[in-house]
Amino acid sequence: MCKYCRSEIDKKAKVCPNCKKKQPGIAKWIILGIVAIFIIASIAGSNEENKKEKNRKKDFTQSEIATFKDVKYSIVNVEKTQGSSQFVKPKEGYEYVKVTVKIENTSDEKISYNALDWQMVNSDGQEDAFGTYTADDDVTLSSGELDAGGKIEGVLVWEQKIGDNNLRLRFYNNALFDKKYSLQFKLN
Ligand SMILES: [Zn+2]
Repeated sequence: MCKYCRSEIDKKAKVCPNCKKKQPGIAKWIILGIVAIFIIASIAGSNEENKKEKNRKKDFTQSEIATFKDVKYSIVNVEKTQGSSQFVKPKEGYEYVKVTVKIENTSDEKISYNALDWQMVNSDGQEDAFGTYTADDDVTLSSGELDAGGKIEGVLVWEQKIGDNNLRLRFYNNALFDKKYSLQFKLN
């Protein structure tokens, strides 16, 4: 049947003998079919990604080594101190929490790291980037790039209430945009 004038024509006819209109070929349907398969596959793929991300282990203890995107993150040391400076002291009732973090790029490509991707949340749920206090001989974690196989250690310091036993160090894939942390370490 012709798609346009609805007259009975040969199934194999490419042009209708009555209205002279070109009959739609099978190619169109094949292309639509392929497009549909791609759309379905990409939806299924992103669902799979979301599921994987949801099920990924994100919470760690202070002594565990966490892996995210083939990069290892760990806490080398946590020190709670009033600081060594005579002039710069924490607020009354507060202490400095100095965390030494280690990043090991075990992926096969260069990565960027940034101290601002690390945030600390306390027992009141207040989450902050590190403070400006730096003790004289500490190597502060800054930002830069790590070659494949490269590693770096650096110190970040927060000021927290003395004896807060629910401090968590959070690593964000991108602290500016992400609403959910990628990794979290519960401090002892
Ligand atoms: Zn026709």
